[in-house]
Amino acid sequence: MTQSLVWAEVDLDIIAANFRHIKRLLRGSTKLLAVVKADAYGHGALPVARTLAKAGADYLAVATADEALALREGGIELPILVLNTGLPDGQEEVLVRRDITQTVCTPELAAAIDRAARRLQKRGLAHLKVETGMGRLGIGVEEVPAFLRAVASLRGFYLEGIYSHFAVADEDTPFHNRYTLEQYNRFLEALASCSNTGRGRPLAHIANSAAILNYPQYHLDMVRAGCIIYGFYPRGDDKERRLIELLPALSWKTVVVQVGGVTEGKRMALLPVGRSHGLPPAAREVLLAGRRAAVVKVELDHCEVAVPENVEIAPGAEVVLIGRQGEDEISAEEVAGWAGTITEEITCRLGNLPHVFKGGSGAEGSLY
Ligand SMILES: *Cc1c(COP(=O)(O)O)cnc(C)c1O
Repeated sequence: MTQSLVWAEVDLDIIAANFRHIKRLLRGSTKLLAVVKADAYGHGALPVARTLAKAGADYLAVATADEALALREGGIELPILVLNTGLPDGQEEVLVRRDITQTVCTPELAAAIDRAARRLQKRGLAHLKVETGMGRLGIGVEEVPAFLRAVASLRGFYLEGIYSHFAVADEDTPFHNRYTLEQYNRFLEALASCSNTGRGRPLAHIANSAAILNYPQYHLDMVRAGCIIYGFYPRGDDKERRLIELLPALSWKTVVVQVGGVTEGKRMALLPVGRSHGLPPAAREVLLAGRRAAVVKVELDHCEVAVPENVEIAPGAEVVLIGRQGEDEISAEEVAGWAGTITEEITCRLGNLPHVFKGGSGAEGSLY
């Protein structure tokens, strides 16, 4: 147990089970990359990465170079792709040294990686990011041939992969389906340019969580699973048509610190959790003694909830902000709905709290 009054609990066995369910959706030859950016969506990057490595992940991805280096420091040996990219900034060499795969979309960055790799006498691993309609950073499909010509003579630069990102694979309407197909077709054009470079076709990947579930025909060589690893279905997911049953791995807990007087006929309990811990001011309910208790006021570092009728509560009683208690459950999706935001924003906010891990390879109740 943690000494902290506000903490996150992460069940690593659930993460491993989610991973196995996702794996079942893939053809045998399709690799599974697990996205552990933003501290594994607030779940704790290192314990989650260790769990996924054990479960058989082929690749990990993070947003930044620092996140990738932290995983290597923690002993993670899986291939790691850094998703962010930009101009050469001197990090290339550090990343090449630790065998970390960099996202490139300019010949300048490719050349910098090549120089670093030759200095270190290593291969500079990279994946080319192609812009197909997400409106984010990436090389245009029509610029891919020129890029390939520019890097063809770079002996230290190894273009291991090529990828793009779907914008609306989570929306199931004829318009969105067509948009997704158009993105896929543009990506295939980019792939076709790679087939005549004589170096073999790079590992191609475009499917995020939504496309893993909704578009098996676009899985290609590898898929990139983010939210579904943690048990969150993509927005727009149709409950009736779920192919796999995923479970949320994260709970958010606190304790009652004071049972106060009666305000407007209600007895109030004070909880040591507030906006500074990531509790949205629009939060409506928490679980207390297995019942839903209304949130009355959210301050910076505490909040007040109304004790449900006929419930006896004492200081020290456990309170669930996200997760299960008794027969009831408050999901991260529900909290995100109250706050008018996406599930990942809510869970990422919990990254700074103490984490208690269950299951997985770590010791029971290990504190992070
Ligand atoms: C974050 C991210 C993902 C994972 O997205 P989910 O919708 O959570 O599966 C996949 N690919 C890229 C490039 C990303 O940045």
